[in-house]
Amino acid sequence: METILEQPQPRRHAGQLCSARKLSLLIALAILAPALPLAGQVAQPADAVLVHARIYTVNARQPWAEALAIRGGNLVAVGTEAEIRKYRGPSTRVIDAGGRLVLPGFTDCHIHFMDGSLSLERINVEDVKTIAGIQQRVKEFAAAHPRDPWILGRGWSYDVFGKAALPDKKYLDEVVPDRPVLLEGYDGHTYWANSKALQAAGITRNTPDPPTGKIVHDAQGEPTGALKEDAAAELVQRVVPQPTREERLQALRQAMAAANKSGLVRVHSAGGDFAYLDLLDQLRRQGQLTVRFYVSDIVRPPELTTAETNKLENARAKYHDQWISGGAVKFFLDGVVESHTAAMLQPYTDDPSQSGKLFWDPAKYKQAVAELNARGFQIFTHAIGDRAVRLALDAYQSSYQSTTVKDLRDRVEHIETISAADITRFGQLGVIASMQPLHAYPDADTLKVWSPNIGPERTTRAWVWHSIAASGGHLAFGSDWPVVTLSPWPGVQTALTRETAEGTPAGGFVPTERITLPQVIAGYTLGAAYAGHREKTEGSLEPGKVADLIVLNQDLFKIPANQTDKTMVLLTMVGGKVVYRAPDFAGPAAAGAK
Ligand SMILES: [Zn+2]
Repeated sequence: METILEQPQPRRHAGQLCSARKLSLLIALAILAPALPLAGQVAQPADAVLVHARIYTVNARQPWAEALAIRGGNLVAVGTEAEIRKYRGPSTRVIDAGGRLVLPGFTDCHIHFMDGSLSLERINVEDVKTIAGIQQRVKEFAAAHPRDPWILGRGWSYDVFGKAALPDKKYLDEVVPDRPVLLEGYDGHTYWANSKALQAAGITRNTPDPPTGKIVHDAQGEPTGALKEDAAAELVQRVVPQPTREERLQALRQAMAAANKSGLVRVHSAGGDFAYLDLLDQLRRQGQLTVRFYVSDIVRPPELTTAETNKLENARAKYHDQWISGGAVKFFLDGVVESHTAAMLQPYTDDPSQSGKLFWDPAKYKQAVAELNARGFQIFTHAIGDRAVRLALDAYQSSYQSTTVKDLRDRVEHIETISAADITRFGQLGVIASMQPLHAYPDADTLKVWSPNIGPERTTRAWVWHSIAASGGHLAFGSDWPVVTLSPWPGVQTALTRETAEGTPAGGFVPTERITLPQVIAGYTLGAAYAGHREKTEGSLEPGKVADLIVLNQDLFKIPANQTDKTMVLLTMVGGKVVYRAPDFAGPAAAGAK
């Protein structure tokens, strides 16, 4: 991390100068003279100024600016080159943006940061689209890691397995017969175990399914190695050796660096991080925290317990500043469309015997939402099927009727399908639509598994960003990393085009739901800040807000939308500190330099 504000800067401002003795006034003027145009324009010098920039502020009252000034980690002025010049004192650091586009730093509103961090050191088969290719990679990884007791990884997608759309242990047994292997599907909802892993977990043909998961069996009743939903995967995960605290800290440091390099300054954790708040706190005390964290805890069925409520209250009391905050609660109402675990109002089109099921008893879920809302907790509800989305909206609506707490901004996470009748309810209720644009990426998984599962009519309401926004709903965007890449830029492009990188399907997948570049940027900045109750201090570049910003290598407003995914971040600043700078990017210059 490069720190431009390490040393407390001497403060000189006009007020002090007026009351100073004559001699010190002369000295002060001599020092200030080279950096300042006219004595009459002297403002209190900034710690740093960013100049020669094309700043898209996301502030509706002043959308564009050329320069900005930073003091104490916050923005003190945003305006023209001439306006910002008067904030330049002798010790002011000057960052020359070289005419590049500058945006507020991005927030990822839905992430599993610890899982993602650990995945950086494991097998990733996201880019492999054949069984043989996955086998090859697993074999190579196992050979390169002979001492790993378990082979762990993630990233396979359902379409790889053809019509079955589910993995089988035999493919892994062929390449790793002697050690357990567990590979998480790209969406985190289905796992793939080999025979050794099933054995280690004690899973046999007689093992019963957990309440909200499924051990898939073949025609002969043998487990196939496919495990649906966390509850089933947990049977294996509980026997996997856990990383040490130091390994986790190291993984977090590496992941924060990757996040900053992608332009991220804040994340909203949607699960898996609550247990590690103290690790984040340790990194903060060591001055190594370069990403802001808003962390939810997962409440699992069958009901909210007093112990959980206390845990949430304690975390919120301890962590509530602009770097680490608790205060959000995550619920999973259903699974995913690909494995028929998303809860649908009508049966699946490809298999009418299934319609998914809710993970929660609706009454118990509504009761938990109402109780947590009454305590002022914000709710994140995972809801992918239209039935789950409706239940989340119903629960929020009835909670708002009963509580005196206002402006809760509860959220529905994902919303991959929705009933036409529910679209306008986001705006009406003030519920946030927290969506992950790259999930709509129209590849084989989306077009050949996801869409046929729900059929053509419901596919017309796939990821309805435009419709929700047009009816007054707030959008907040994220990645769901490690489900998809940490980088927001492929997501930005998908929100604009709804086409693959290769331009298919021509004209876009449900193209009426595309949104504009300002809408997409807002989804990752001011909309994201709003979705985390931080819009007063974050999300746009305006005086009084934190100095969290990014400098980009290309001007998104001037390039074709299908080039957006190539965007590189040249510089990332969090709270006035440069936390990432591309090796070939010139700024920041020395203190006081032109
Ligand atoms: Zn997620």
